[in-house]
Amino acid sequence: MDFGRTQEQESIRSAVRSLCAQFPDEYWRELDRASEYPEKFVRALTDAGWLAALIPSEFGGAGLGLAEAALIIEEINASGGNAAVAHAQMYTMGTLLRHGSVEQKRRYLPKLAKGELRLQAFGVTEPEAGSETTRIKTTAVRRGDRWVISGKKIFISRAKYSDLLLLLARTTPYDELTDKTQGLSVFIVDLRDAIQRQRIVVRPIETMFNHHTTELFIDELEVPAEDLVGTEGQGFRHIIDSWNAERILIASESLGDGRWFVDHAAKYASERVVFGRPIGANQGVQFPLAQSHARLEAASLMRDKAAWLFDGGRKCGAEANMAKLLASQAAWDAANAAMDAYGGYGFAREFDVERKFRETRLLLTAPVSNNLVLAYLGQNVLGMPRSY
Ligand SMILES: Cc1cc2nc3c(=O)[nH]c(=O)nc-3n(C[C@H](O)[C@H](O)[C@H](O)COP(=O)(O)OP(=O)(O)OC[C@H]3O[C@@H](n4cnc5c(N)ncnc54)[C@H](O)[C@@H]3O)c2cc1C
Repeated sequence: MDFGRTQEQESIRSAVRSLCAQFPDEYWRELDRASEYPEKFVRALTDAGWLAALIPSEFGGAGLGLAEAALIIEEINASGGNAAVAHAQMYTMGTLLRHGSVEQKRRYLPKLAKGELRLQAFGVTEPEAGSETTRIKTTAVRRGDRWVISGKKIFISRAKYSDLLLLLARTTPYDELTDKTQGLSVFIVDLRDAIQRQRIVVRPIETMFNHHTTELFIDELEVPAEDLVGTEGQGFRHIIDSWNAERILIASESLGDGRWFVDHAAKYASERVVFGRPIGANQGVQFPLAQSHARLEAASLMRDKAAWLFDGGRKCGAEANMAKLLASQAAWDAANAAMDAYGGYGFAREFDVERKFRETRLLLTAPVSNNLVLAYLGQNVLGMPRSY
C-alpha cells in the first residue's frame, strides 16, 4: 500500500498553488462584496489547462484522472478561493466521457479544452422534486429529429457564465415506469443560443455567499436529436457517474477549505497574545484545531480511495458518499474552530474567516445534503429500511 503522492501530483499541487497565489484573499473578498463572478481567475485557470484536466489528451486536454482533478480543486480552496466557480466542467466529464458519443466528444471537448467553450452548468434540481431526482418534471418530447424540452429548474449555478448546459429531463412519464430510475435522459444544451432565443429564461437567486445560482424557465426548447447523451431513458444512471465525481470533488473543496481554516487559525492563535500568552497555548483554542486537522486527514484518505476507485472504473458510490460526508463535516468543524480562535475578528470581513465560513456551510447541503448521503449509506450499504 502506498500513501504517497506521485511526483506528477506534487508538481500539479505546486503549479496550482502558484497560480492561486496571484489571486489573494483580497481578490475573493472584493468579488464577494460586489457579488461578481471571478472571470479573471476562471480565465487564468482555463489558460493554464487546469479546467481541461479530465479531458483526454486526444481531445486536447491534460488526460489526468479524478485523483489529480481533486488535488487541483483542493488547492484552489486551500488558497482562500472557491473552486465552485468552475468545478462543473470537471464533474460533468463523468457523464460526457463515459456516455457521450465519439461525435459529441469531437464536437465539444477540443473547444472546452481550449477554453473556447465553457460547460459550467449542470441542470438537475427542480423546485417540486428537490432531492427526489426521479420526480423531476421537465419533459423532453421527441419531434422528428429534435427534442422539445419544457420545464423549470432551480439552483442551477453559473448558467450566466456557461456556454453549455448538461440537462436532465424526463422522456417517459413517471406513471408509466415500473423502475422509477428509468425514463430520464441527459442532453447537452447550447445555453447561449437558448437564452438568446428566450427558450431559456435565467433568473438569478441571491444566496448567502457569492455563488451565481439561478432558476431556469425552459419553454419549448428545441435540442437536436444528436445532443442526447448516452441512451434515452438511462439519464439517471448516466448522471450518477457525474454525481460520484462531484462528491469526490466536493470532498476536495471541503478539504481545501478545512486546511485554510486550520492553517490560518493556527497561525493567528500562535501570534495573538491575551492574558500574557498566545491564545493558542490554551487547550480550549488549540485542541479544536488539532482535532480538525486529524478529521481532515482522515477524510482525505477516504477521498483518495474514492478517487482511486473512480479512476479504475470501479464502483465507488459508497466511498464517494463517505468522502463527501466526512470532508464536509471536517471542514465545518474547522470553520467553527477557526471562528472561535479568531474571536471577534472572525466576524470582520478583512480576515476572510466569515466569507469562508459562509462558503463552507453550503457543502453540508449541496450538491447533495448529508442527510441523503447518510440515507444512501444506511439503505444501500447497510441494507436498512428505505425512506425513499
Ligand atoms: C448554492 C446552491 C447551488 C446549487 N447548484 C446546483 C446546480 O448547479 N445544479 C443542480 O442541479 N442543483 C444545484 N443545487 C441544488 C442542490 O443540489 C439541492 O438544494 C439539494 O440537492 C437539496 O435539495 P432541496 O434544496 O430541494 O432540499 P429538499 O429535497 O427539499 O430537502 C430539504 C431537507 O430535507 C431533507 N430530506 C429530504 N428527504 C429526506 C430523506 N428521505 N431522509 C432524510 N432527510 C431528507 C434533506 O436532506 C434536506 O436537509 C444547488 C443548491 C444550492 C443551495
